[in-house]
Amino acid sequence: MVEISSILQGGYAHPLSREWQGKRALTKSMFMYPLFITDDPDAHVVIPSLPGQCRWGVNKLQEFVGPLVQKGLKSVILFGVPLTCEKDARGTPADDANGPVILAIKKLRSLFPDLFIAVDVCLCEYTSHGHCGVLNDDGTINTPPSVARLAEVSVAYAQAGAHCVAPSDMMDGRIKAIKQGLIDSGLANKCLLMSYSAKFASALYGPFRDAAGSAPSFGNRKCYQLPPQAKGLARRAIKRDVNEGADIIMVKPGLPYLDIIADAAELAADFPLAVYQVSGEYAMVVAGANAGVYDLKTMAFETTESLVRAGATLILSYFTPQFLDWLEA
Ligand SMILES: [Zn+2]
Repeated sequence: MVEISSILQGGYAHPLSREWQGKRALTKSMFMYPLFITDDPDAHVVIPSLPGQCRWGVNKLQEFVGPLVQKGLKSVILFGVPLTCEKDARGTPADDANGPVILAIKKLRSLFPDLFIAVDVCLCEYTSHGHCGVLNDDGTINTPPSVARLAEVSVAYAQAGAHCVAPSDMMDGRIKAIKQGLIDSGLANKCLLMSYSAKFASALYGPFRDAAGSAPSFGNRKCYQLPPQAKGLARRAIKRDVNEGADIIMVKPGLPYLDIIADAAELAADFPLAVYQVSGEYAMVVAGANAGVYDLKTMAFETTESLVRAGATLILSYFTPQFLDWLEA
């Protein structure tokens, strides 16, 4: 005799009743699409290690982003890829008024008034040494001037019209410094602060570094990005950024860190929770599909829905254009 409590299958026999088993369903508005903006205004350059993704010049944004907005794209996050600027020790080109990021913010605001524009705040692409801050003579990070510089750059992006600034550097105290910068410049009520709170030193960033040209010229980023085994540090970083004034908490990467996403959903329960499905995760899913291991769409759904199941409410994903086709709303 089968016990009554053992009978489950009737509850998910129909496709619709299977959909009801999720606490939250994927929607188009949950996706934020990463865009690489370079300084050649007419650039449309394929990134070989990130299939289907390109570096764009400001003049190409209308023809690329327009059709996506038509399909229901609600938000983008911009990454600057300066290839011709003069890099220095403090990352001066990061907030150049004629740099690709600030020009792209203004362009997108005028072209697509309803599009939410987030901007990654990072000094790596703009410093001569490729690290995300100002260095001491011995090559270590000098924290106070680093966070002051990150705040300065964030304010410049907010002044240009960014709806969100998202510092990805992982420097101690930068959320507080950026929030204070936004308050002092009268922008704290207009610009959202999304913190890359639990960003791990992952092997999955390779294609992004290829796309952004942002590998450090010496050393690595292990003194500011979190060690992959560091659950406790991740929990402390999430709590710290909540207390320093973050409006959205982010975990990055997604797939190998589902437990951290679940922890963030509990520790920052009153906040939207973003997850960055990073370049390597995306490339891995595409590569497996190309090798015949699984169907691309099925695996894209399974991996992305796992992030939602763990607690994500916002997903930064290179699959965004496909999901705009795959999802009805
Ligand atoms: Zn950086």
